[in-house]
This record gives sequence, structure tokens and C-alpha cells, in this order.
Amino acid sequence: MSTSTVQSDNVKIQVKDLHKSFGSNNVLKGIDMDVREGEVVCVIGPSGSGKSTLLRCLNKLEDITSGKVVVDGFDVTDPKVDINEVRRHVGMVFQHFNLFPHMSVEENIMLAPVELKKMGKAEARERALELLERVGLREKANARPASLSGGQKQRVAIARALAMAPGIMLFDEATSALDPEMVGEVLQVIKELADTGMTMVLVTHEMGFAREVADRVVFMADGVVCEQGEPEQLFGNPQQARTQDFLSKVL
Ligand code: ADP
Ligand code: MG
Repeated sequence: MSTSTVQSDNVKIQVKDLHKSFGSNNVLKGIDMDVREGEVVCVIGPSGSGKSTLLRCLNKLEDITSGKVVVDGFDVTDPKVDINEVRRHVGMVFQHFNLFPHMSVEENIMLAPVELKKMGKAEARERALELLERVGLREKANARPASLSGGQKQRVAIARALAMAPGIMLFDEATSALDPEMVGEVLQVIKELADTGMTMVLVTHEMGFAREVADRVVFMADGVVCEQGEPEQLFGNPQQARTQDFLSKVL
């Protein structure tokens, strides 16, 4: 798949020669990646290859060592850019849900719109309930996170990320901490989101899911994009020895 011909106005995420080091540990060694509007990109690869670091560089949870990252039109590497403004455009869901335990489910979802967008509480609550409906948890609005299952917590975390109406959603192993019987319900919510045309980058170990949902799969190894392509191509006919080796262990 060629990304060089993509019109720049359709590109939601542009990563050019991204390097990221922690001290002397060079974790990202020149990543190039474009994500077009509405595209669903799954990032796979061995543990420690830099997948989480790449996602975290996209919304500047990590400082970038060198290279260029443009997200929703914002140059993340430009010190003049308001990073909080960028983060409002980019929702992120982590392996651990990080819900606020002392707040109800709906309060968790209302928090960012009220605090960051200065949305009125009534409107924020109405939106929270709509989002809970969407993730199948309308009846849990007043529950505390501690009373929910892992799958329910993660669905609340997705609703919370959506509350800011982001143009891009990032998922970092959103199902890895879940008991196996809860993985499906969370993947279903993510799949429905993909079907709405949301631009998404997902780091995942769920190869079957990646194959089904991704427009493109990016295989990372040792801080570089080793190979990428459409799922049928990458899973069915991988070209690089490292990709073949990785897939032989996980498929
Ligand atoms: P993956 O998500 O593919 O498993 P990570 O991006 O989490 O990989 O980690 C890649 C490398 O970066 C690892 O060697 C890890 O130890 C290192 N690393 C990640 N975050 C930090 C950090 N905050 N400080 C120091 N090293 C880190
Ligand atoms: Mg990771």
C-alpha cells in the first residue's frame, strides 16, 4: 500500500523519521507512518519493540527525541503547540483502565468535558448517558468502577475517551489485562467504533481481531516498522523473515 500519494488533507497522523531514546536506549529508530482519515491501523510486534512508546509519542505522553509527528493538523514537535489542545483531539485507552475510583461511572465520563471543555453538567451528563448506551452500560451510570467487571470497566474507559469527541482514538493493548471471557465484549465495542469511520491506531495481541478490523497492519520489531500491509497480505503472505518468525509464534 502506498502512502506517498495520499492527499495531505486526508492524513490524520503523520510520523516522519521518529526517533525516541530513553537515555542510551534507542527505542524508536526512525519510524515512518501515515494514517489516513477513517483508517484503522493495527500495530503488532514482539514485546519491547516500541509499540507503546510509538503510541505515547503521538499525543506527547513521551517527549520526542527527533523527527516529526503531526496529529490532526497539529505539529506535536512544535514547542508552541498547546499539547492539551492536541490531547483533546486524541482519545487514548490503556491496558489498565485508570478510572477514578471515587467517582461514579457517569462522573468519570463527564469529568473531561466539564473540566477541559467547560461543558455544562446537564449536557455532559446527557452525553455520558448516550455514550454508556453505546457501550451497552446505560444501567451502570451511577455505579462505582469497583463494582464493575474488567470488561465493563474497559467499556467505560472507552466511553470516557469518546466524551471529548476525539477525531482519533489510540488503543494500547486494551484487552490484554482482561479475563478471556471479557475480551469479546470490548473488541465488539472497538469494532463498532471502527465501523463508524473513526481513525484508530490499535496496538493489539489479538491477531484474529487485527485481521478482521484493520485496514492496515504494521509489524514493528526492534524500534522500526519491519513490514506493513493489508491484513490478508501481512498475515497470509508475510515477506520478511522476522514477520514470519513472529507470526509463527502467535498465530
Ligand atoms: P512494547 O509496547 O512494544 O512492548 P515499549 O514501547 O513499552 O514496547 O518499550 C520499548 C522499550 O522502551 C523497552 O526497552 C522499554 O524498557 C523502554 N521504555 C519504555 N518506556 C520507558 C521509560 N519511561 N523509561 C525508560 N525506558 C522505557
Ligand atoms: Mg506495550
